[in-house]
Amino acid sequence: MKRSEPVKIIGAGPAGLAAAINLAKNGCRVIVYEKNPDVGMRFHNDFQGLENWTTEDDVLDFLLSMSIDIDFYCKPVYGGLLYGPSESATIHSDQPLFYLVKRGSAPDTLDNSLKRQALDSGVSIEFNTAVPSGEGDVIATGPRKPDMFAVGIVFDTDIADTAVIVLNNEIAPKGYAYLLTADGRGTLATVLYAHFDRCDQYLDKAVAAFRGILDFDLRNPARFSGFGNFFLRKSALEKGQRLVGEAAGFQDFLFGFGIRYAVTSGYLAAKSIIEDIDYDHLWKLRFSNQLKMSARNRRLYEMFGNFAYNSLVKKTFASGNPRRLWQRFYNTSFRGILRDNRMKEEAACDTTLLPGH
Ligand SMILES: Cc1cc2nc3c(=O)[nH]c(=O)nc-3n(C[C@H](O)[C@H](O)[C@H](O)COP(=O)(O)OP(=O)(O)OC[C@H]3O[C@@H](n4cnc5c(N)ncnc54)[C@H](O)[C@@H]3O)c2cc1C
Repeated sequence: MKRSEPVKIIGAGPAGLAAAINLAKNGCRVIVYEKNPDVGMRFHNDFQGLENWTTEDDVLDFLLSMSIDIDFYCKPVYGGLLYGPSESATIHSDQPLFYLVKRGSAPDTLDNSLKRQALDSGVSIEFNTAVPSGEGDVIATGPRKPDMFAVGIVFDTDIADTAVIVLNNEIAPKGYAYLLTADGRGTLATVLYAHFDRCDQYLDKAVAAFRGILDFDLRNPARFSGFGNFFLRKSALEKGQRLVGEAAGFQDFLFGFGIRYAVTSGYLAAKSIIEDIDYDHLWKLRFSNQLKMSARNRRLYEMFGNFAYNSLVKKTFASGNPRRLWQRFYNTSFRGILRDNRMKEEAACDTTLLPGH
């Protein structure tokens, strides 16, 4: 499709930049407007996980198929430690469970890489430009209100690379806490789905919990916080504007893995403009069911509380293939998975999951 006017994209996060890169590579003129002086300013060069379980294909191939080059810090994680309130497990996968990426403005972050790729493709980015609502062709402005609140610290450390996840309402109400370390850097955070006003107490408890699990040094800590927004919608079109990423509520309800949804929806918005296809049709076909299942499983996860957390730990360990099991949580009801596998679980969970626990 030939447009004489440039496509205007509001927001230079993964969703907006994925749309921009794909439009520009297909011959469109594109201007991205970003309210901050640089990309990634919502983040703190903290580690995030690019999940690699919702599709059979590796997520890096998935990104390449959407014209995104992998020239950012990206480290495969094959396993780690998983703790529930009274269960714990060492998990391992033959394929990466997720890739560690950095989010922020530093040169090796995902955000900065997408900026470079967009500029190299001929995209113009106007920083320090907050665009009022109602303007623009693609709206990629990120979350509007907090459904989830994360608080954490980034720090220097000498500990070996590790990934530890804790599911426990005492530390992360209805959410989870994580410790990710690699190449001398660490990120420790607690992700809350309730009691946001007590985030500092929960962060203190998370630090204590991880120190109880591992002995690690924590130097030059810097605190950060952020929030996530997710909601189900019938249409991601508003008065002709295409909403992408978290601005559209596209976010994994279960655990808040939103990067993939952001990039995918940005790519699909670009495709809908280039090929003149209905955007709603494209995103619904690609991930509407997965989104709905993650919403349903979040409700069940919250309802079953500690039982669900312990079951998830036991089931992940017993499955022998965590990637395959977690994929099912985005395609099948949590309740169904627990019921289907009860026999298998009973046999496998006779063993102690972690030495000493
Ligand atoms: C602490 C934390 C940890 C997370 N961890 C993970 C993880 O491990 N894995 C994962 O997949 N996801 C994770 N997420 C979620 C993920 O970061 C987001 O889903 C993803 O960044 C959404 O991308 P986006 O492009 O939609 O929005 P954003 O990344 O928020 O980008 C939106 C951009 O729009 C700009 N903007 C906003 N309003 C305007 C305006 N009016 N005019 C111009 N510009 C504007 C903003 O400044 C921003 O740069 C985490 C989120 C948080 C807060």
